[in-house]
Amino acid sequence: MHHQYTINLIFSLLIFSSFTNSGKAGLLENELDVISYNLTIEPDFYKGSIEGMVIIKFQIDPIVNFITLKAGDLLIDKVTGESVIEFKKTGQTLIIDLSEREKNENEIIINYHGNPKTGLFFHSAPAYVYTVYSTSHWMVCNDLPSDKAILSLNIIAPKGKKCVASGELIEIQEKEEKTLFQWHQNYETPAYTYGFAIGNFNKTEEKSEAVLLEYFSENYSPEELSSIFKDTQNMLSFFEEKSGIEYYQTTYSQILIGDHYQEMSGFSVLKNIYGNMVLKDSTETNLISHELAHQWWGNRITCKRWSHFWLNEAFATYMSAAFNEYRFGKNKYLSDINAYLKVYEDIKKRDNDKPLVFRNWVNPSRDDRNLVYFKGAYVLHLLREEMGSESFWKGIKFYSQKYFGRSVETIDFQKAMEESSGENLQTFFDKWVY
Ligand SMILES: [Zn+2]
Repeated sequence: MHHQYTINLIFSLLIFSSFTNSGKAGLLENELDVISYNLTIEPDFYKGSIEGMVIIKFQIDPIVNFITLKAGDLLIDKVTGESVIEFKKTGQTLIIDLSEREKNENEIIINYHGNPKTGLFFHSAPAYVYTVYSTSHWMVCNDLPSDKAILSLNIIAPKGKKCVASGELIEIQEKEEKTLFQWHQNYETPAYTYGFAIGNFNKTEEKSEAVLLEYFSENYSPEELSSIFKDTQNMLSFFEEKSGIEYYQTTYSQILIGDHYQEMSGFSVLKNIYGNMVLKDSTETNLISHELAHQWWGNRITCKRWSHFWLNEAFATYMSAAFNEYRFGKNKYLSDINAYLKVYEDIKKRDNDKPLVFRNWVNPSRDDRNLVYFKGAYVLHLLREEMGSESFWKGIKFYSQKYFGRSVETIDFQKAMEESSGENLQTFFDKWVY
C-alpha cells in the first residue's frame, strides 16, 4: 500500500526511545505494563481514515503466553516481534499469542488502518482533525487508566498545516507535500490522555516564566484568542500553588475546535462556540480552568479504576470553582457550588443518587456522569467546610504531592487527608463518598 510505504520510509528515520523503569503502582501481578508507545500515524483528510504503526514496549511475566490490547474498529494489518506467534481480533480486543521467553521486557510492532467513528473527528471544510478520549480507536493500546506509559507521536500531515500533540515537539521535517511532526512525552500518562490535532490554525502565544502558553483556533483571531485565554497563566499558578507541584511541561496548548471538551496530556480541546461565551462574559472560564486542572488531577494523579473516576472529574470541577473564588471572589465560588448542588438535587429527585465510588463504570448514564462531576465537587466543598479551609488545602497539597505520577483509589485520598489533618474522616466518607 502506498501509505504503508510512506510510513515505513519515514519511520526508519526516527529515533527509538529506550526502556525506562515504569511505575508499577496500580497494576496487578502478571498484568500487562506498557513502558512506551511509539506511534507513527497519517490521517487521510479526504477519506477520513488513518494509517498507523505503533511500536509497543512492555513488560509482562514470561509465564503469561498472550496479551490483550484494545483496538476499537481498527483493521490490523500485521503484528510483528520476536515472540509474536499469531494474533486475532475479537470485537474491539486484539489478542496476541506470545512464544516462550525469558525476559519480562518485550516489543511488538502493529500496523493498522481504519476509519474511526469515535475518538478521532475529521472535519472536511475547513480540513481539520482532532482526537478525543477513546485512544484505542486510533491507536492500538492498553486503555486501562492504571497503565501509564511514555509516548512518542510521529504525525504525518499535509504540508502547511499546524499540529498540536501530547509531549514536546522535537522536530519538524518537510518531505515533498507532507510534514512530519515528531512529539515526545518523556513521562508516563494513561493512554486516554494521548492526543493530537491538525488544522490550519490561527495561533497566538504567551511566554510566562517557564511555560509557553499557546492558543489555537480555525476562526477566532489571535486577538480574540488572547482575550479568551487571558487568565490561563493565572490559573496555572493557582493550580501549582494548590497542588504544590510545578507544571511539568514547557508548553500548554488550548485549541478551540469542533464540538468537544477534552483534556489531553499537555493540551486541551474546547468546543469552538465556547470561545464566544467567554468573549461575552469574561468570568465564564470554568471549562478553561477545569481542563487545565486535569494536568494535575487526572493526567498525573489518575484514578486507578474508572469506578474511582470522581478523583479525576470532581477534582477538576471543584478546582474551577476554587479558582473563581481566588479570581472573582467568594460569591462567584458560592454560586458555582450552588449550581453543582442544584444538579445533584435534581438527580436525587429522579431517585438516581449513588455513591461517588461506583461499583462498576460500564455505560454510565447522564446522571451517573453528573454525579461524578457535580455531586463530587459539592462533596469536596463539604469536606472543606468540615475540615476548615486551611486544613483542607494542606491536605490537598499533601495528597497531590504524595500521589503525583501515580494511580489512586478513594482510600488513598481519604488516608492522605486524614494523615495531613490528624482527623478521622471515616464518618464523612461513609456518608458522602462510599
Ligand atoms: Zn474533566
